[in-house]
Amino acid sequence: MRLVLVGPPASGKGTQADRLTDRFRVPKISTGDMLRAARAAGTTLGKEAETFMTAGKLVPDQVVIGLVDERLDHDDAKPGFILDGFPRTVPQAEALGALLEKRGTPLQYVLQIDVSRELLVERATLRRIDKRSGQIYHLKYNPPPPGAELDHRADDQEETVKRRLDEYDAMTAALLPFYEKLGLLRRVDGVGTPDEVTARILSELER
Ligand code: AMP
Repeated sequence: MRLVLVGPPASGKGTQADRLTDRFRVPKISTGDMLRAARAAGTTLGKEAETFMTAGKLVPDQVVIGLVDERLDHDDAKPGFILDGFPRTVPQAEALGALLEKRGTPLQYVLQIDVSRELLVERATLRRIDKRSGQIYHLKYNPPPPGAELDHRADDQEETVKRRLDEYDAMTAALLPFYEKLGLLRRVDGVGTPDEVTARILSELER
């Protein structure tokens, strides 16, 4: 299973990537998670990325392409991967194509998760992450249990979310025609419970 998930911030990509990972037994490769880990570890790369991330801007292509190139070489990614949040620009998509061609393992699916902008803002601003387990909650739709130690991503504040959505419309939306032309694109309605969306994804992949 070699699959890319494309969707705006808070469209449920991360949640669905976790579920697909369990189902297909391939790792989730999330550039957002890798960058947050680098930032938390205080590495040079993390510091470089931080300015872009807190502003809701995209980190330069070369940085994320390098991270993915290195990550694809880990043993666990040999049977496949679920890419979450990468590629986000056409140059990243072209670079990914080249990385996979080099390894003789072309992409099989690009799955677009569709959600309206108003719902995305509400989802992101009410999204909370349990610091200990990494589990994602929503204060209204999927409330955390008592005692959860919650974190609100700095880039999930309303103004930053709106900038990230603008960045998605400006840069990432161009991926859709790119992958459509390659015949890889599948679309799924991302409105509903996580279970409903997972069911739609699985039936789309079996189609
Ligand atoms: P995410 O968790 O996928 O929403 O990513 C959080 C932030 O990390 C984004 O707003 C960007 O600043 C940065 N980021 C993650 N993935 C990429 C990527 N593929 N290209 C550029 N920036 C990225």
